Amino acid sequence: MAQSVYIHIPFCSRICPYCDFNKYVVKGQSVEDYLHGLQQEMERTALQHRPEQIKTLFIGGGTPTTLTPKQMDFLLESVYQSFPTVSEGGEFTVEANPESMTEELLAVMKAGGVNRLSIGVQTFEPSLLKKLGRMHTPQEVYTGVELAQKIASPIFL
Ligand code: SF4
Repeated sequence: MAQSVYIHIPFCSRICPYCDFNKYVVKGQSVEDYLHGLQQEMERTALQHRPEQIKTLFIGGGTPTTLTPKQMDFLLESVYQSFPTVSEGGEFTVEANPESMTEELLAVMKAGGVNRLSIGVQTFEPSLLKKLGRMHTPQEVYTGVELAQKIASPIFL
């Protein structure tokens, strides 16, 4: 039976007032320590379950795209080591916030086997975005999607 894995990145650049997820503002804490902990847990999980049965993997948050390209590269390499079938053609999703989708980060995700983005867009209405405490503008959504299509195609959005 195919199984799925969810990986949580609990860091955000800023906290939205309506949010119930487990998250922390990223401000100097050791993100690397957290990523090493995840790596060890993935290794343990792969030993306990048959990793070839893992066909879908979702990295959510928090905001996974607050990771630096180097941190993202480390995370995706850890996924590859423990769940190679996901990196080699399974459904491999990363949650992304529009304002943090940089060219370099998208290129790292593409190289790491990510083939699906879940982009956090609650509304295109500027006044509602402000009320919700979101960091992006409507234009940044279009820019982020265009960048993803240019850098990371055929990533699915
Ligand atoms: S960016 Fe997402 S996870 Fe972070 S505080 Fe806002 S809604 Fe919550």
